[in-house]
Amino acid sequence: MTTPEASPDEPLDFSTSTTTTLTCAGCQGPLTDSYWSAGGAVLCADCKAAVEAGQQAAPDPLSRVARLTRATVFGLGGMLVGASVWYLVERFAQIRVGLIAILLGWLVGKAVFIGSGRRGGTHYQILAVVLTYLGFGAAYLPFLLGAARERGTPLGSAMASQLLLLLPRLPIMVVQDGTLITGAIFLFGLLQAWNNTRAIRLEISGPFTVTPPGT
Ligand SMILES: [Zn+2]
Repeated sequence: MTTPEASPDEPLDFSTSTTTTLTCAGCQGPLTDSYWSAGGAVLCADCKAAVEAGQQAAPDPLSRVARLTRATVFGLGGMLVGASVWYLVERFAQIRVGLIAILLGWLVGKAVFIGSGRRGGTHYQILAVVLTYLGFGAAYLPFLLGAARERGTPLGSAMASQLLLLLPRLPIMVVQDGTLITGAIFLFGLLQAWNNTRAIRLEISGPFTVTPPGT
């Protein structure tokens, strides 16, 4: 084992004689004096700057409006799929499975997130929650339609607009008509939509000072 010879001009530096095992997760270079933390990884100043630049200049050919439109279309798709599954299971399995509300929320959240270009963020979260909520109502619309048909109500445009107006109030009516558990499941479904559309942003903290082991 050789110790590097200190040149006469330089003061003896004891902190480097004890080799630190801290290396940058980006370039694998040794971290000598300061470092940054990003998502649990340790980065040097250059790699931290590169990560930041990459986040700021995330290339996306779509404009904000186009992204929001795509997220809405995707979310509506997820809502229709979820509401259809919900309706079909309740209709043909003859069981009330409000638990599908959770699946619906999850689906809508994922769809909106993908539609947003995997960005997420507060406005996408609100969009996903609103679509999920409307999806709860949409799942019950066919039942209302069936009940109206049984009563002999003509299924005209007046009926359709009436049902559309009723849609935003349907989930609340279902909860009022059901149990506390129904309400809890609905809330959990909305939470799934909210969580799945969270913005993914790497939190960078630092700089931290490298402390040599033994101090
Ligand atoms: Zn680095």
